[in-house]
Amino acid sequence: MSKDKQAKLDAIKADIIKNNVCPELADSATNLVFGDGNPNADIVFIGEAPGKNEDEQGLPFVGAAGKFLQEMLAGINLKREQVYITNIVKYRPPNNRDPEPEEKQVFLPYLERQLKVIEPLVIVTLGRHSMECFLPGQMISKIHGQPKRVKGRVYLPLLHPAAALYNGGMRQALIDDFASIPQILKLVREGK
Ligand code: URA
Repeated sequence: MSKDKQAKLDAIKADIIKNNVCPELADSATNLVFGDGNPNADIVFIGEAPGKNEDEQGLPFVGAAGKFLQEMLAGINLKREQVYITNIVKYRPPNNRDPEPEEKQVFLPYLERQLKVIEPLVIVTLGRHSMECFLPGQMISKIHGQPKRVKGRVYLPLLHPAAALYNGGMRQALIDDFASIPQILKLVREGK
């Protein structure tokens, strides 16, 4: 099963290259940052776009925000390898600028395909850009930490770890929201 899912994910990654998605970003980037972790994960975390470290290593969330994410995962007894981590935009935007709406749009079908393969119980969006792809018209400052059921999927919008890292109030809010993940998973597993 897992091998099958991994093969399907590999095929999506190959399609991004074959279809020459976002050639400008691809040109300025070092690596395609497709996703990392367990294809059978119950939780998928979706960030915004790769930063410098991610671009260099070809892996999502491996810099300071990734370290913080990993610490919060450890706080709920999860290892990075047990979940799946990805971004909306798969190439680093130059100088870490915000991704453009068109960049998010062109990568969205590939992200959707990733989610259809993994079929997680809970999709955790990290930050405003990721939230807006699935929960448009919402304010992250209002709805962070509140699970939302949309068309059979459960989304948990969270603050972005990079934004929360050096802001005491946001940092605590993110840690508190993160702590609710096991209970949300339990309820979804029980079909509630
Ligand atoms: N921030 C993101 O949104 N994604 C990463 O992969 C790293 C930092």
